[in-house]
Amino acid sequence: MFRRSRLSARLSSVTVGLAAALALTLAACGDDDGSGPGPAAASGATPAGGYKLTQATDFPASPTLDKIRQRGEIIVGTKFDQPLFGLQNPTNDKIEGFDTEIARLLSIRIFGSPDKIQFLQTVSKNREPFIQQGKVDIVIATYTINDARKKLVDFAGPYYTAGQDIMVKSDNTAIRGVADLNGKKVCTVEGSTSEKNLREKAPTADVVLVDTYSSCAEQLIDGRVEAVTTDNVVLLGLISQHKDDLKLVGTTFTTEPYGIGLTKGDDAFRTFVNDTLEEAYQNGDWAKAFQSTVGKVAPTVPTTPTIDRYTA
Ligand code: GLU
Repeated sequence: MFRRSRLSARLSSVTVGLAAALALTLAACGDDDGSGPGPAAASGATPAGGYKLTQATDFPASPTLDKIRQRGEIIVGTKFDQPLFGLQNPTNDKIEGFDTEIARLLSIRIFGSPDKIQFLQTVSKNREPFIQQGKVDIVIATYTINDARKKLVDFAGPYYTAGQDIMVKSDNTAIRGVADLNGKKVCTVEGSTSEKNLREKAPTADVVLVDTYSSCAEQLIDGRVEAVTTDNVVLLGLISQHKDDLKLVGTTFTTEPYGIGLTKGDDAFRTFVNDTLEEAYQNGDWAKAFQSTVGKVAPTVPTTPTIDRYTA
């Protein structure tokens, strides 16, 4: 079980809702009993759809869309080790999570089917190169939209807003906020905003960089580092796997709008993806996607973010 040592008004209501709901869920039950809302309950595994969205009738002239439609499937870069957002299910190898469901909505819009997707594992540091090199058509991977990244890739969305938090072992009382990370061994992931934010907010932290947050969690459990820092929902997913050993502390100290990474300059495709997201916000599909994934531990559906249709 995790506890927050302090909750303040600065903590977003989403995080409070997530943390409280996760705590309640973890206290109340163990494994998913399949009685929760959404399509996951019916299949007992990956949500199979049940969305209202339908295939587009008109497709704009877009090189990315042409390539995807000719291939007959969309190649999506995502995380494979992040519970709630993108996690490979060891029993059937399927990737499950909110990011996965957002990909399915796009697959429905393009092909009329949620399953015309090839998922390719991306870690934080190879998201921009994978898009730039055409290894993936899009990236949906707890991927924060920011100006530095926008120089290399484009973003549709945001489709969710997270914020950075700190995770420690359950018995740790020394670390209570970001300032306490100074002088401590802190694990985060190379190429993430979490790394950059950590260096700014705790300049004398002894930063341990790895490729994945699951590897950070292992280092924390083994006592090789004293804290892990990244987005609240990424940490809550890890805590759901190690509920007796790990907890969140402090208050959320950044804002991380999650976007869909796209090849730079294909504005017609960006508009198509943004239109798809907006329709899913309006027809309830986005909420359904949330409920069948993150909602298993945090039933309160957040309000939909406002799509940023920026001009380059
Ligand atoms: N959202 C942050 C980022 O895009 C941290 C999570 C991650 O690395 O995927 O860098």
